[in-house]
Amino acid sequence: MISKYVFGPAPSRRFGRSLGVNPLPRKTCNYSCVYCQLGRTPKLQGQRVTIYPTQEVLRDVRIAIEEMGDSIDYITYMGDGEPTLAANLGEMVSGTRELWKGKMALITNGSMFHLEEVREAVQPFDVISPTVSAGDERTYRRLHRPIRSLNLAKVLDGLERLRQEFQGEIWAELMLVRGVNDSLPSLLNIRKVIRNLGADRVYISVPTRPPAESWVLPPTEETMRQVFDLFPEAVDMTMPEEEPFLRNEGERQAELLEIAKNHPLREDQAMEMLSFAMGEEKACECLREMVEDGRLRKANYGGKTFYTVPLQKT
Ligand code: SF4
Repeated sequence: MISKYVFGPAPSRRFGRSLGVNPLPRKTCNYSCVYCQLGRTPKLQGQRVTIYPTQEVLRDVRIAIEEMGDSIDYITYMGDGEPTLAANLGEMVSGTRELWKGKMALITNGSMFHLEEVREAVQPFDVISPTVSAGDERTYRRLHRPIRSLNLAKVLDGLERLRQEFQGEIWAELMLVRGVNDSLPSLLNIRKVIRNLGADRVYISVPTRPPAESWVLPPTEETMRQVFDLFPEAVDMTMPEEEPFLRNEGERQAELLEIAKNHPLREDQAMEMLSFAMGEEKACECLREMVEDGRLRKANYGGKTFYTVPLQKT
């Protein structure tokens, strides 16, 4: 199934086979994180907006469930920016809840929970996974480059209110970038924030796909050892997922482009998707053509080749 609202199921390190839902077009975000795999945010978005029609999104969610329900572990709201900026998120999520009795998750930068309407909108989720990667204002600004109206105190206040009101689980994601938030004082501040929040789980990740800023690197191995000493309860998400992308019927190139829009594909993953339909030699040729005609962009990061969709093509 090809949809601009729904993609996958794709393998997720947290959510197994995850059917992604994009409640907003690329790249609607109030941050411009240095590690963002979607590139820099062209224009920071502060206000919540309705862009995608709720009923169209729900129609595609329903079709995806009918076609692929058996191969979905989680329906995950995430996508091409910050999902809580969608003013109609609550309608979409409660509509999805009526269609799907399985697990639902939200991947968010965690910046909008100071708003009561956002905390209400997210109640149907089973899991909310916010980024908690800074414990002091300076690090917060360097890492996320947020819109002016946001600051760390406001974000943390919102997360604490969410913790009090939300019945599901909160899985904090800590993204570490060398020289930005991996010093000992910075890590101790983050630990304090995560402990205060009472997160049910902590996931530690590092950039594994081409980031917005080319200087962004994961912490050194020595630092990572220190990180896991400080967060013994944390789940290690620093290795890229290895499960191959699930194969759907339908047009492989279009499917690959939909997934690569917000999930840069390693070369082996892209080859896996295409060669199933057309054999390895043709898949190789097809990838080369898609790069040449500008539908895909090839990038190297961490010694691996990735394919992403250039921003202007979405
Ligand atoms: S990583 Fe997420 S929060 Fe940060 S700029 Fe990208 S989409 Fe926005």
